[in-house]
Amino acid sequence: MTLSQAFHPAVADFLNSDKDLLIGDEWRPAADGRTFATVNPATETDLVRVAQAGAEDVERAVRAARAAFEDGSAWSRTTPRQRARLLWRAAELIERDAEILAQLESLDNGKLVSAARDGDVATAAELFRYFAGWATKIEGTTIPMSTERPHHAYTRREPVGVVAAIVPWNFPLLMACFKIIPALTAGNTVVLKPAEQTPLTALWLGSLLLEAGFPPGVVNVLPGYGDTGAALVAHRGVDKVAFTGSTEVGKRIVAVAAGNLKKVSLELGGKAPNIIFADADLDRAVAGSALAGFFNEGQCCVNGSRLYVERPVYDEVVKSLSEAARKIRLGSNFDDADMGPLVSAEQHEKVLGYVRGGLAAGASAAAGSGDRARPVGYYVEPTVLTGVLEQMPVQREEIFGPVVTAVPFDSEEQVVAMANDTRYGLAAGVWTRDLARGHRVAGRLRAGTVWVNTWHADDVTLPRGGYKESGWGRELGSFGLDDFTELKTVIADIG
Ligand code: NAD
Repeated sequence: MTLSQAFHPAVADFLNSDKDLLIGDEWRPAADGRTFATVNPATETDLVRVAQAGAEDVERAVRAARAAFEDGSAWSRTTPRQRARLLWRAAELIERDAEILAQLESLDNGKLVSAARDGDVATAAELFRYFAGWATKIEGTTIPMSTERPHHAYTRREPVGVVAAIVPWNFPLLMACFKIIPALTAGNTVVLKPAEQTPLTALWLGSLLLEAGFPPGVVNVLPGYGDTGAALVAHRGVDKVAFTGSTEVGKRIVAVAAGNLKKVSLELGGKAPNIIFADADLDRAVAGSALAGFFNEGQCCVNGSRLYVERPVYDEVVKSLSEAARKIRLGSNFDDADMGPLVSAEQHEKVLGYVRGGLAAGASAAAGSGDRARPVGYYVEPTVLTGVLEQMPVQREEIFGPVVTAVPFDSEEQVVAMANDTRYGLAAGVWTRDLARGHRVAGRLRAGTVWVNTWHADDVTLPRGGYKESGWGRELGSFGLDDFTELKTVIADIG
């Protein structure tokens, strides 16, 4: 079966014509007519051309989102229960179009269709349902005052306003949902800027949300490059930026957002330490560490890229993990495989560059080689490096690919110090049969998420976010709504 035969007819149809921007309820080309190509990472061929939003489009989209937010608009009059129903309806539409979304995600990002269907798309529907439940539960409190005259004081949680959601390419649909869903739950309006590498599922999501019945202008979708995101961040009509991406761009956003002091939440990079003590169940620890290092082609902010192994079991763990890495079958889209290509030529070069740099500096490859895994497609073999030193870039910088460095350690004190010796603090993990040590080390690791005897175990109910240079704020769970609301205090004299 050829690739095109395997496509859902709606996917083939979607890829047949240039894609427009969504502003209000209109699909339109960029005001200046610019477009860019989005590429299938498995074949290195163009999939379709997409409108590239410029300054004028940003202006229009923010105006549409503002109008949709303003007092008296259809959206501002929507009751919490109505918002809940709209979110629930969106979940149903995601499930109706699950195969289409999974195929588009796979073609655009490189991950396997099965991974996109069972992971990204299924979780997106779950997120809509979870937050539909919250729409009717965004509450304030009554607070006693000790004034002589009696007063009644209470708080209200209100939407922040127009939210610019700027997202990366590793989980394109999911990252968009992480922002849009809590924003809508709390009554905000959104301008979504998908990553330039992966705009397709964001566009499909835009049309689903219109179909679900969200009023025009509540969600706008502006594909484009960094300058489109930068224009949104600088815009005074935007009240909040919700960003996932690199720490470097996050810092730029903070500086520009100072213009009107818009609120900013940031989910940034990571370099997660994964610690295996000698008493751990080594079979589970190795399988979990392979997942930690190689899931989603290693393109995860919480990728367990720094593996620390207690010295007595170091050789055994490195050998088993390298065997597990070599067993991972590379493949594309619909293949019965374990891992797809990386997202782009740039990312491919970057990841291979880190591996080659590490090898040139004296590291050894226990699995992988730093060479292209295939002549066509941005494939990288799952790689395990030994002999790395703490100051090497491969050990200090975020690689964002299927590359794990394995370093031995001799004591809990030493490994906690090494694990925390990073500017990042997104995730960490520890494997041990000693319960007390598991929880003790979890408490000592400076990271927003710590896994004990597992990795990537997750739920839409759990908050996530970063310490240190890994970000500001928390997403998902009930905490995830806080960043999308303003807290108002009302004080009434009732004397
Ligand atoms: P990136 O920062 O280059 O781009 C992310 C998004 O920001 C894209 O949409 C891009 O177009 C836009 N952008 C670029 N420059 C901008 C600017 N000056 N102003 C506004 N927007 C701008 O990141 P990337 O390479 O696409 O993604 C990989 C990074 O994302 C990694 O560092 C990874 O750790 C991080 N990430 C973090 C999480 C998390 O939850 N913490 C999740 C996924 C990815």
